[in-house]
Amino acid sequence: MSRTESGATTAFEPSQEFARHLDETDSLREYRDRFHIPRRPNGEPVIYFAGNSLGLQPKTVRAMVEQELDDWAELAVDAHRKARTPWYSYHEVFGESGERLVGALPGAGEVVMMNSLTINLHLMLVSFFRPTPKRHKILMEYPAFPSDLYAVRTHLRSRGLDPNDTLVQIKPREGEHTVRTEDIEGFLDEQGEQIALVLLPGVNFHTGQVFDMARIAAAARNHGCAVGLQLAHAAGNVQLHLHDWEVDFAVWCSYKYLNAGPGAIAGCFVHEKHGNAPDLPRLAGWWGDDPETRFQMHLQRDFVPQPGAAGWQVSNPPILSMAPLKASLEMFDEVGMDALRHKSGQLTGYLRFLLQRSSNDRFEIITPSDPDAQGCQLSILVHDQPRHRHEAVLAEGAVCDFREPNIIRAAPVPLYNTFHEVWRFTQILTANL
Ligand SMILES: *Cc1c(COP(=O)(O)O)cnc(C)c1O
Repeated sequence: MSRTESGATTAFEPSQEFARHLDETDSLREYRDRFHIPRRPNGEPVIYFAGNSLGLQPKTVRAMVEQELDDWAELAVDAHRKARTPWYSYHEVFGESGERLVGALPGAGEVVMMNSLTINLHLMLVSFFRPTPKRHKILMEYPAFPSDLYAVRTHLRSRGLDPNDTLVQIKPREGEHTVRTEDIEGFLDEQGEQIALVLLPGVNFHTGQVFDMARIAAAARNHGCAVGLQLAHAAGNVQLHLHDWEVDFAVWCSYKYLNAGPGAIAGCFVHEKHGNAPDLPRLAGWWGDDPETRFQMHLQRDFVPQPGAAGWQVSNPPILSMAPLKASLEMFDEVGMDALRHKSGQLTGYLRFLLQRSSNDRFEIITPSDPDAQGCQLSILVHDQPRHRHEAVLAEGAVCDFREPNIIRAAPVPLYNTFHEVWRFTQILTANL
């Protein structure tokens, strides 16, 4: 049985016919045709379960990029004002869809698309890590993504702090794979007054665990800590309510579940309560400045941040990289996160059901089984010849990844994967067990 956020339950059956039946009754099945699916040498589409690393290309992307190339060719500098989507205010086209995606307050300017994830994390640390002699630590999870660790450690050093004293990583309990929410709360009860910033993921990249962001944000606030969320694996995967959770800031990338292409323009959320705080320290550039006065260069005046998250922009944005994000977010707007999350619960729940039936104790799923703590991805710990088994899966035309020493990560994505692919994938992964 799989309980989904909508409260629906499904009793799964192991047969191939049942997989076909689930596809026939899937209300989102048409969306698969809107993506380019890579093919094997034999012409068959691969089973693409790597959307947690790089989402597939929506077919509308090419025309959107070509439009910008045409506007550049035909209008050149005038395209800043006269392009079909004027470049000068290009980031504004993402305002509403960005707000819906992460649960920001409509019209409050809490979301901006800019830069890449790690850069945005650096920018947010400058503004929202405000250490005092008593409260000077950052709390992260274990394992954390290397780029996030590098960003935080180097940031701490840049402030004259020693990461060995000031970076704390909360670990799963002995014998467990994922961090318990009550352990985060317990840690904050004990040491919260030393923590300046709680910096946790929405979804852990390694285990696929969906953190209880609402509870964590509330606990952090109760202890006077700032809260930042790292949403690389959460954006486009699970429902987010950043405004209501009173998260101070969040950062995410757009090339994983958001399908906006390699190195796509990332996102950044700054809570409304900080949107009009020009005195917050920040690393500025002209695109965060007031667009009305940006070109009064002769005045040599001081930087005045525009209100909201847009005031953290630095450079003028790379239009050719922004265009695919338009194609991507139009689709998310059309489908809505509730419908996506519903299918995702079914799809990944079905994968778990099939794997558990046939695993023979040769592997275990370390992603929590609570449907609210599981997104698209399942992390499968393989006890026996893990690398060999992953290679065998690739050879059979399924794309998923391997994380040393023994984890296969598989992420069926509700926009373009099918139940039959989940069924096939399980056959391939469990062959000869
Ligand atoms: C994918 C990912 C990143 C990637 O960082 P970039 O700056 O986009 O290269 C960072 N952190 C986490 C947790 C990720 O999953």
